[in-house]
Amino acid sequence: MSKDKATDLLVIGAGPGGYPAAFHAADLGLRVTLVDPEPNPGGVCLYRGCVPSKALLHVVSFLHDVEQASEWGVRLGKPEVDLRRLASWKHSVVERLTKGLGQLGKQRRIRYVRGTARLRDAHHAVLELAGGEHTDIAFEQAVVATGSVAASIPGMPDSPRIMTSRQALDLADRPERLLVIGGGYIGLELGQVYAALGSRVTVVEMQPEILPGMDRDLVHILRKRLAKQFASIRTGTKVKEMKEVADGLRVSLEGEGESQATFDKVMVAVGRQPCAVGVGLEDVNVERNDQGFIEVDAQRRTSAPSIFAVGDVAGAPMLAHKATHEGRVAAEAAAGQRVAFAPRAIPFVVFSDPEIAWCGLSEEAAAASGRAIRVTRFPWGASGRAVTLDRPDGLTKMLCDAETGRILGVGMVGRGAGELLGEATLAIEMGAVADDVGLTIHTHPTLSETLMEAAQAFGQHSTHISGR
Ligand code: NAD
Repeated sequence: MSKDKATDLLVIGAGPGGYPAAFHAADLGLRVTLVDPEPNPGGVCLYRGCVPSKALLHVVSFLHDVEQASEWGVRLGKPEVDLRRLASWKHSVVERLTKGLGQLGKQRRIRYVRGTARLRDAHHAVLELAGGEHTDIAFEQAVVATGSVAASIPGMPDSPRIMTSRQALDLADRPERLLVIGGGYIGLELGQVYAALGSRVTVVEMQPEILPGMDRDLVHILRKRLAKQFASIRTGTKVKEMKEVADGLRVSLEGEGESQATFDKVMVAVGRQPCAVGVGLEDVNVERNDQGFIEVDAQRRTSAPSIFAVGDVAGAPMLAHKATHEGRVAAEAAAGQRVAFAPRAIPFVVFSDPEIAWCGLSEEAAAASGRAIRVTRFPWGASGRAVTLDRPDGLTKMLCDAETGRILGVGMVGRGAGELLGEATLAIEMGAVADDVGLTIHTHPTLSETLMEAAQAFGQHSTHISGR
């Protein structure tokens, strides 16, 4: 084992939590070492998560448009998808972005180590390099940003027909019959990709509704569209047994009655678990909670004062943008600044078609807390822009404090809803009241007007919906 030089900040994991922490710390003048098994920064989000799935979902939305085009007087042939070409385009998107991050790291003189790190004590770690050699490193402070891994279901057979989202994104083939277990973010996003590619998709969700916990008004509109695209959506249903047979996987489902069906492939998307094993956390007294997430304070500092944790490994919500902000807070704290991670609203987007986007307080949480709120709704059927896009299947919803009009939560469903959410999140962060948004001139015709009109409806003065 070789003896290594010291670093101010050792960042373990170069995903959307780790690389922003490393980049920001370097900008603040720290000597930074960033460790990750991949050739460049990016993590699961860039290599096999958010980015490749969004590249595919972009193609899906194009395929949906082609299908609808005849209604607009445009006759196009039935599209043929070349899976290999599609996979290679998706790969080029990933390469371009991850290489770009590699360059940005070099420009900041960050030492990027391809390998893994294991903490030995509060100021030392062992690096296992990609070639297999080991080297010691001394650090002043460290950030653990090791992310999460896909959860599995116990008792599943060991079969090449069973995929996680990672394998599903490889697009190795187009299964004729695909079972998706889990009606959450990944199940619905990738389920829609495979449905658009021609698979007959069945989704099984054990809770009474898909996207459990998400606003029902919004989910209802998405579900109506999914019902046309998927072969079936079985809620309140679990997989009881799965057996490899000659022509696929024979699956027994248990819900409202029992049934059996055979599938060519099964994708499991039942949540993710923190990736905290093998990092040496137990050797440095970093405390974890019952679910295995690292416990952190407002600065993202763990129970070991020289060690921070950010991103999925430090708890829900498991979202790249939450990880990035935590990473920047940890870097500033490591550089001696007085900072805290204290968002008023974290945005959530399901990149299905239509997209579901939400930030701030939900109706359910408001009801549970007994807070008096007023909810306004602007259906996209009343939006000129949504109708010109031939996508009136949308809704913008605003939750305000009943007395003061302070905006507490905003939800939307509709094509491109995720792009609109930034304004709503900013409004909540800045403590805006409904009039702040309602009196702001929004460009016509854009979907952003739906937010303005939902805000105007708080005072019952929306132009395109009746206040009565
Ligand atoms: P998820 O938590 O969103 O959904 C998992 C679903 O599986 C849940 O609805 C759950 O009730 C269901 N489930 C669990 N066990 C089951 C079983 N045995 N049978 C049937 N259903 C079962 O998790 P995911 O879709 O795997 O995504 C993982 C994480 O990745 C999420 O927490 C999410 O934050 C993140 N993610 C985010 C985005 C995004 O921001 N757009 C996209 C993909 C993933």
